Amino acid sequence: MKKVSPTISSYLEQTKDLLGDKLYLSKDISDIEAESNSSEVSSSLVEYSNQISDCEKCSLHSIRTNFVFGVGNPSADIVFVGEAPGKQEDLLGEPFVGRAGKLLDKIIAAINLTRDDIYICNVLKCRPPDNRNPNTSEVEQCEPYLKTQLKIIEPKLIVALGRVAAKTLLKVDLPLGEMRKQSYSYEGIDAIVTYHPAALLRNPAFKRPCWEDFQKIRDNYLNKG
Ligand code: SF4
Repeated sequence: MKKVSPTISSYLEQTKDLLGDKLYLSKDISDIEAESNSSEVSSSLVEYSNQISDCEKCSLHSIRTNFVFGVGNPSADIVFVGEAPGKQEDLLGEPFVGRAGKLLDKIIAAINLTRDDIYICNVLKCRPPDNRNPNTSEVEQCEPYLKTQLKIIEPKLIVALGRVAAKTLLKVDLPLGEMRKQSYSYEGIDAIVTYHPAALLRNPAFKRPCWEDFQKIRDNYLNKG
């Protein structure tokens, strides 16, 4: 039998105090449960971020302005995972806030999503100098944080943005054009690969295949009731 969460339990206790044993619910119990689960997931993510935000496991800690944990809906069905924070992200402590982030906002809007519907984070939580690719040791040190983050969120789909994110997450080393044709699993969660929005800014020819990937996301993971 499903356990009643502490939040629901306290809601029921308060209702009992006010109204006696008879329950009057202005909302469906599943709505209350969903809201309660969402706030519990949100507080778990915040707690987890606070626990690890002073991390000094790899040398990137010494040059970061901000630790960049992730943003978005803590109960999202879809999590987008990039490679590492860039300059703007390091300054603001939020992933995908520069030009590439604005383009990502437009792409997700085209499949009727906003940042409030999804969650966005990176493999690395600190910026590598001059935006160089993460090295193997940095990924090994930082990846457990991503795994825990995904365990808390429990999405239905992970979208790896770009070849570096895909390679570090999925441990496959193929051209991005090949990777985006495959389906993967990361820690038991469906995973797919598409272009990093920064690549679309550099090469507009990638826009069409990227749009095809987002149409697949829409058709396979949204509007399924
Ligand atoms: S990149 Fe990850 S492992 Fe390295 S210091 Fe930052 S949080 Fe820690």
